[in-house]
Amino acid sequence: MLQNIKKQANRGRLMKKYINIFASILFIFVFFLIQNIIFADNFDLRVVYPSNGATVNASSTFFVGATHPDAVLTINQIPVKVYSNGSFVQVFDLKKGANKIIVKSVLNDKEKEISYTLFVPNNSEGSKPITEKALSNEAFQYFTAKVIKDDAPIRKTPGGDRLTPIKKDTVIYIDMEKNGHYRVKFAEDKLVWISKNDVEVLNVSESLPPVICKKMKVINYPDKVIIKAFLDNKTPVEITEKNNLINIDLFNTISLKKRKFKKLPCFINEIKQEQTTGKLSLSVDLNAKNLYGYDYFYEGNVLNILLKKPPQIHPHYRKFKLKNNECKLNVLNGKIITIDAGHGGKESGSVGPTGVPEKDVNLAIAYYLKEILEKEGAKVILTREKDDFLGLYERPEIAKCHNSDILVSIHNNALPDGQDPYITHGTSTYYYQNQAIPLAEAVQASLVKKIGFKDLGIIKESFVLTRPSNPVSVLVEVGFMINPFEYEKLIDSQFQKQAAEGIKDGIEKYFAEAK
Ligand SMILES: [Zn+2]
Repeated sequence: MLQNIKKQANRGRLMKKYINIFASILFIFVFFLIQNIIFADNFDLRVVYPSNGATVNASSTFFVGATHPDAVLTINQIPVKVYSNGSFVQVFDLKKGANKIIVKSVLNDKEKEISYTLFVPNNSEGSKPITEKALSNEAFQYFTAKVIKDDAPIRKTPGGDRLTPIKKDTVIYIDMEKNGHYRVKFAEDKLVWISKNDVEVLNVSESLPPVICKKMKVINYPDKVIIKAFLDNKTPVEITEKNNLINIDLFNTISLKKRKFKKLPCFINEIKQEQTTGKLSLSVDLNAKNLYGYDYFYEGNVLNILLKKPPQIHPHYRKFKLKNNECKLNVLNGKIITIDAGHGGKESGSVGPTGVPEKDVNLAIAYYLKEILEKEGAKVILTREKDDFLGLYERPEIAKCHNSDILVSIHNNALPDGQDPYITHGTSTYYYQNQAIPLAEAVQASLVKKIGFKDLGIIKESFVLTRPSNPVSVLVEVGFMINPFEYEKLIDSQFQKQAAEGIKDGIEKYFAEAK
């Protein structure tokens, strides 16, 4: 009996011991788990480029990535500069054949290591890294600069074709000067130009730290989708679009995660993210025929990319009308349309043989168009309502402020010296953005059909009134002020009404076919 009690007591002690050991193991396990959770975000090493096992057809490559800002980083024991946001970019020379490379980050007594094998084929040219070529302008001191104007023009060549404009306060890296312009290095293979007047020199520096993209979000609204990229600094952006595909490049940007975009709004089929040395790219595949206006803006360092959905026919506005015994859906009801009558005030535009200025003809057609569109329930904004002077750049701003679906600018044409107004005359519609092609085509076809002038077609041209990406914008040249036959009609109010009808038919067709 006594022995039994002793045995039980022993068993109890043993149990306690086991429980203690188990608790200690659990404690250590939980401790490491918590420590991992706490420190995983603080100390990590990520290389976004190149990928392990890659074949490199050059004598050097770049290592792009991020780690803890205080970590000591080496690539094969060569020290690498880590920027204050934790990012790094390092050119690394390669030999022919297999290259074993170790990227190592050390913080206090902790270490992270990534091993690489990169192959350089024996027949590789071993081309020099592009950096040297880009920096060949010897007399010039390289520096960083801040953009001081919002939507400052970015060009392919000094004074040449425009790319996506840049936002105020974006810091850029400048490596050359020419004809009043600075050359800006968005990436090794992306060299663009900006006017010297649009930037403020910051300081002479070796390079610009890459911008880190911490997370992304897709926010769905009834009429638009906004893609948000949470950056630690503003960065240059380029947006290109064609039909239902949009590509957004964030230069000098590193994403710390390879994102998979799930549960997207039905307006978007797919978003793909691609990381290369010079940029983070998003390609967006829309579930729509094409785009209906896009834009980008910053809220602090959060980049917002706005993509407008196809204009909807609100059930509330659905209305059928009888016209030549056919039922027709009123697609104009509720649409916001900005009409811009070209020139005004001190600016007459072209002048016809008897002295009527283009500005008056433009305004008359704009008024008739407003009247017809409003009858169909559209909300119409005129950029100018009188013979007033209005700056060119204010016009698209008015359209944007009113959240317009479209902007239509009305003009009448003239010719430079040396051309024959009896040969060159007729109707043309100008556009610049790909997304505006359907509107330009619809307006051009309907207007020509209505007024019977020679069809000069739709023309891609970079004008202040065709360049906006939000809203969809076109510019119509109804006819030629300096062709006597066309001029006679253009100053006739019945004809002006007819021209307005033609433009309205085109706008209606555009909205009816938008999807
Ligand atoms: Zn004009």
